[in-house]
Amino acid sequence: MINVAIDGPAGAGKSTIAKAAAKELGFIYVDTGALYRTIALNSIRNHALDDNEKIIALLESTDVKLGFAEDGTQCVFLNDEDVSSLIRTPEISMGASKVSAIPQVREFLLSLQRDIAKNNNVIMDGRDIASVILPNANPKIFLFASPECRAERRYKELIEKGEYVTYEEVLADVNQRDYQDSHREIAPLKPTEDSILADTSKLTLEESINFIIDIIKENVQ
Ligand code: C5P
Repeated sequence: MINVAIDGPAGAGKSTIAKAAAKELGFIYVDTGALYRTIALNSIRNHALDDNEKIIALLESTDVKLGFAEDGTQCVFLNDEDVSSLIRTPEISMGASKVSAIPQVREFLLSLQRDIAKNNNVIMDGRDIASVILPNANPKIFLFASPECRAERRYKELIEKGEYVTYEEVLADVNQRDYQDSHREIAPLKPTEDSILADTSKLTLEESINFIIDIIKENVQ
């Protein structure tokens, strides 16, 4: 199976780029952030987000599954409820960053991710795909852009969805999540030595997609 890892900070365009590349190449696109978001949603619903012990205890009664539609769209299920759209809020983004620092949460989601990659050609997007989940992935791509660029993109996305946010709030969130994700003890966000670094700050979306598709094609041949 061909396993492509795309890691990088929030808002670097990973999901849009990886999704488009997967479509072009006929691979399954796996958005692993959705898994951490689902754990965050479950924790918030159970008033556990501020208590790591509670978050861990909840895992025992938690079932998380990914489903893929014919057109490749990913759905995530929490105890058989489709929560795919519920997890796309700034509150859940921040919650996901929090729960993702808990080793037991990462362990809980590990085999789910590996199993999908074992049975399918995938482009898997996350933070620790190259370093932990799929150490044999090829290529491993670390996709990034400046915090300001990423905040600008995310701000536009949220406004289009009708969320009430300011650019400054989004930039502060981006910086806080970057800090949390790259300073946590377990699986901190950083490129592995064998990752290809891809800076999309100055590229349009189309250029970024083509850039990534070219990297993948060059490496899987
Ligand atoms: O990619 P997305 O923004 O949906 O991820 C939400 C949060 O989940 C990230 O900020 C990060 O803390 C966490 N995450 C992670 N490992 C992954 C994917 C996401 O720690 N593989």
